[in-house]
Amino acid sequence: MEEIKQKHMVVDSHAHLTLPQFDKDRRTVIERARKTGLEHIITVGLGVEDCRKALMVAEEYDFISVAVGVHPHDTKTIDEKAYSVLKDLTSHEKVVAIGEIGLDFYRNLSPREIQVEHFRKQLHLAREVSLPVIIHDRDAHHEVVTILREEQAETIGGVIHCFSGDWSMAEACLDLGFYLSIPGTITFRDSGPYQDLVKKLPLNRLLVETDCPFLTPRPFRGKRNEPAHVCYVAQTLARLKQMDVSEVAEITTHNAQKIFNIVLPY
Ligand SMILES: [Zn+2]
Ligand SMILES: [Zn+2]
Repeated sequence: MEEIKQKHMVVDSHAHLTLPQFDKDRRTVIERARKTGLEHIITVGLGVEDCRKALMVAEEYDFISVAVGVHPHDTKTIDEKAYSVLKDLTSHEKVVAIGEIGLDFYRNLSPREIQVEHFRKQLHLAREVSLPVIIHDRDAHHEVVTILREEQAETIGGVIHCFSGDWSMAEACLDLGFYLSIPGTITFRDSGPYQDLVKKLPLNRLLVETDCPFLTPRPFRGKRNEPAHVCYVAQTLARLKQMDVSEVAEITTHNAQKIFNIVLPY
């Protein structure tokens, strides 16, 4: 793959900068992202403690914002107190979304009915505090769409991160006014069907993300992922859309700015 030589204004809409994989060189990783041309990074909370840590990281940089929420894996640990803490955290100026919330019926680390309960409750929280949501959906496409419809999520708004649904799910989410975020898997050689789907999605409703330290794109597959690598996602998207990468960067950045209500310095 051709190397990124030029700086592009890209937003990594989904990173986990708090995870231990970054403990040794977090600052270096963040500075490298900035040097590569990242305009902004959303670091996404996985649970109450992780959200607090995310805010500590974000407070040091004007180009990092935070989503606060409890990942479906950890919903079995939520108690009422967690909700009052989450709600308090949403008043922090760095918080731009509730996330990541949703359903993971692949790993089932929390019982499904508990995941559903707290997906709905966190959607309610998002509505209450007027923030968009960042949704995790793994092997739960039908259930996620059903809940979003039942909860009238079109009045909340948000992003389906690491979008992995089919065309009918994409249509359903777009109908609800949601954005779809594309991860590094789009760069894989064996991602033909996924690339064919993404090619047909409207660019004005797409975001790009790393989900780092996971889902590392080519040419770094197998290594730790980091926000700087989001450029490779933008580059693949540009190739699929037969557009210039700077245009893809600009449009997806505009989308992120709109959905998360972040002010970028240009
Ligand atoms: Zn996720
Ligand atoms: Zn994530």
